[in-house]
Amino acid sequence: MKSYTVMGGRCKLNYSKEELLKWDIEYVWHPFTQMKEYCSEEILMIERGEGCYLWDIDGNKYIDAVSSIWLNVHGHNRKEINEAVKKQIDLVAHSTLLGQANVPSTVLAKKLIHIAPKGLKKVFYSDNGSTSVEVALKLAFQYWQQKGEKYKSKTKFISLKRGYHGDTIGSVSVGGVDLFHSIFSPLLFKGYKVDVPYCYRCALNLSYDTCSLACTQQVKQIMEKHSEEIAAFIMEPEVIAAGGIITVPRGYLKRIRELCDEHNILLILDEVAVGFGRTGKMFACEHEDVSPDLLCLSKGITGGYMPFAATLTTDEIYEAFWGDETLKFTHGHSYTGNQLGCAAALANLEIFEKENLIAAIQPKIEHLKKLLEKFWEIENVGDIRQRGFMVGIELVEDRKTKKPFAFEKRLGHRVIMEARKHGLILRPIVDVIEIVPMLCVSEEELSFICEKTFESIKAVLKQVKTKNKKIISQ
Ligand SMILES: *Cc1c(COP(=O)(O)O)cnc(C)c1O
Repeated sequence: MKSYTVMGGRCKLNYSKEELLKWDIEYVWHPFTQMKEYCSEEILMIERGEGCYLWDIDGNKYIDAVSSIWLNVHGHNRKEINEAVKKQIDLVAHSTLLGQANVPSTVLAKKLIHIAPKGLKKVFYSDNGSTSVEVALKLAFQYWQQKGEKYKSKTKFISLKRGYHGDTIGSVSVGGVDLFHSIFSPLLFKGYKVDVPYCYRCALNLSYDTCSLACTQQVKQIMEKHSEEIAAFIMEPEVIAAGGIITVPRGYLKRIRELCDEHNILLILDEVAVGFGRTGKMFACEHEDVSPDLLCLSKGITGGYMPFAATLTTDEIYEAFWGDETLKFTHGHSYTGNQLGCAAALANLEIFEKENLIAAIQPKIEHLKKLLEKFWEIENVGDIRQRGFMVGIELVEDRKTKKPFAFEKRLGHRVIMEARKHGLILRPIVDVIEIVPMLCVSEEELSFICEKTFESIKAVLKQVKTKNKKIISQ
């Protein structure tokens, strides 16, 4: 019997592979997973990781081409982060931040503010991306409640259709991915939803070269009409990630910032997915030199090690909570400011600094861009979108009409299952194949990822087409 690594150390008990696979099916309910389908397919059970690679319990090696869903930054099992966490755990694993402080959360807050977009001065910790958004929404709401009598009606949010901000009820309320969210609509608070700036499938049927960002007109109209009831506008800058790796057209965010300023509306930027170098800048809003009033960070903040998050905000917002007991922000999670998360986050930031990482990744981003051109050879590739290390390849049945494949074909899912056979871990968003490598990826590894993704897409399309032919000839 082989022993398996469970939660960090070599597990003392010996478990057979058969037992583990059986127990996974028997006891575990996987997130965002149709369990009926999952239980009928081969299970991928990870045992360990190193750099861009993961190994399953059979010892098969895979390249983690989605950074474990946009989390990992410097590679798995990264020595500096491991050591920082080990050092911290021997001091203390966790003590509360409610009414008391701890050492690493203090140092980390200072460092985060130092690198954050200008104007952000305070850090409110929480423990995952959804909660970082909940914090931003509630801060924005309570800010206006306490700002003065005439602002009390500012209680609503404007958000993007196809935006994604997490799975808690507040964050789902400002989300717009129907596939995930529509079932919960009776539970959600109401707000204004505007068209997503999705140039490939423009809601206005315009083209970026000549549109002058006409989609922002809709935002302008809502703000002009309803600004007295709107607390904040929320969006993911640069890449609307879970909505389909939709790249935000240049100029859009700047225009939104101007509109928010003109109408006295706060801007919340959700950089949970795009923060920490993923788009080629430390924070995605730097591409447009825009600063938000509230910035949500998670995923990459610990290098992808820990459930940890932070919401950054301005002195102006902070001051509206300053005063007597009734004005405080009544929100906090048990693991807020967790020392292990802080230690990992500090080590993460040190690697950025030490390796001058943002500059160092630029040639790799260019290399990736060149590699992606080859995908146009596949006639079912409708669009290729890239910002830094975030890539979405949208597969369509017909390139000319942009007609999507029938949902039941599960094309994207089939591509990622095929990719596993080629030693590649990918993830689809319906039929958008996403590639989101870690910042530590090498050019050779990028070439490997693209080559294997290409082969996997080709193989699945071939199966689909031969099947269609058979149906037609029957
Ligand atoms: C992943 C994600 C979240 C939610 O984070 P969780 O840690 O999964 O709760 C929120 N916003 C964006 C943009 C995300 O990509």
